[in-house]
Amino acid sequence: MNTDRISNITFDDAIRYAGQSADAVFVADGKADVYKALVRRGFFSEYLREEGRYHDLIERLWYHFNNSEDKVIEDYHVFIPTAGKFAGKYSKRLNITFNEKAHIVQMTIYPMEEEQVYLFVLNELDGSFYIDETLTTKKVSTIQNTYLFSMYVDLVKDTTNSISITEISDEVMNQQLKYSDWRMMIVNMIWPDDKDIFLERTDPEYLKKNLAPGRTTSFDCLMMNLEGKFIWVKLIFSRAETLNPDDFRFVFMVQDIHENAEELMSTLKKYEDLASKDPLTSIYNHGRIETEMFNAIENIKKNGGSVAMMILDIDYFKRVNDEFGHSVGDVTLVRFAEVITDFLSDHKAVAGRWGGEEFVAVVYDIDEEAAVSLAETLREKVAAEDFTKIGHITCSIGVTSAGPDDDLNTAFNRMDKAVYSAKSAGRNCVKAVF
Ligand code: GH3
Ligand code: MG
Ligand code: MG
Repeated sequence: MNTDRISNITFDDAIRYAGQSADAVFVADGKADVYKALVRRGFFSEYLREEGRYHDLIERLWYHFNNSEDKVIEDYHVFIPTAGKFAGKYSKRLNITFNEKAHIVQMTIYPMEEEQVYLFVLNELDGSFYIDETLTTKKVSTIQNTYLFSMYVDLVKDTTNSISITEISDEVMNQQLKYSDWRMMIVNMIWPDDKDIFLERTDPEYLKKNLAPGRTTSFDCLMMNLEGKFIWVKLIFSRAETLNPDDFRFVFMVQDIHENAEELMSTLKKYEDLASKDPLTSIYNHGRIETEMFNAIENIKKNGGSVAMMILDIDYFKRVNDEFGHSVGDVTLVRFAEVITDFLSDHKAVAGRWGGEEFVAVVYDIDEEAAVSLAETLREKVAAEDFTKIGHITCSIGVTSAGPDDDLNTAFNRMDKAVYSAKSAGRNCVKAVF
């Protein structure tokens, strides 16, 4: 082995050499939260300030995400590995987009003797040599965008380690943050309504009881993203395979499922609408308005009070069809439904099509007398309406009020009896049976 060519090179030479070729060198104090530049050349002189907060430096180097200038919210500092204490040299390749130009940067961080004092050495690499890498990095950042972050947790030791997916060396950083503390920090980023489930599912005792070795479990919730907006995420817990029941290590990942979740929810909403709406009039269908009546009565059984219900049956509707045709009849039904819903929009009420030319309305927070007078006003409103092509029609209305002793049938029967008596009385009138 011939070492002639390298034997004279000393450690100091190496440092000098590395120092000379560095485009930027910063020294930072994590404890005092300050940094200052020793050298800044090339685009670094614009990209990074001469001095500032340690956190700002870290943020600038880690979260130049989406090529945006958005600030990372304070809570997210918990995910910046070097925001905590760390020991050992750390090297990472960064893709920084600045002023619409891409820069590939090799960053190496050397811990100094003093606790939490670090030397940042940054070199811009010649982009043309790294085209392949840039392409892969794009893939990696897609993964990174999908998996917002990941942690390695040891429940027994109560420790966490952050896993950086972009890592060139598969180095696992020791963040020296207790799992229990970390959990209480994360909970701040969870949507208020989801905090309980988050605390339940991340509770060490819960995990020990429910997560068997080698098993993965997850749940979805709303969580603040780096920009402070709430997005849908999947929290994934994957326990390490082990034969020792006292060994409890798991990987915790946060997956961004926002777009899919939004799409899924809007599809589900569409299905729900389809399932609950009458296709002709677009108001609630028979099933949905029946559910409304059922729930209203159940609620009264629990909490007391009463609810008014009325059925509206168009008078001599068969004649409309006979005289003007079925499609004019349909248009009339659509308009009739609109007249009812417009009228009820000022009240705490919902209406649905019971079937054919019969409609049901459920009206909350109203006594019997007021319900009858409301029905009377509605009847007048219908009679006054000028329907396209056919002019005026009338309707008969049966009113009742449901109390705690009712069920769906008893309440409906009274309402039906009432409308029958309105028909018998000559139509275009309101009758009530209580
Ligand atoms: P009454 O005053 O006794 O209620 O008389 P009516 O003619 O309104 O009552 P009847 O029950 O005899 O007739 C209801 C008519 O409603 C019969 C049916 O053709 C018509 N109908 C039911 N559903 C629809 C529909 O969806 N579209 C149209 N165009 N007509 C319908
Ligand atoms: Mg009828
Ligand atoms: Mg009728």
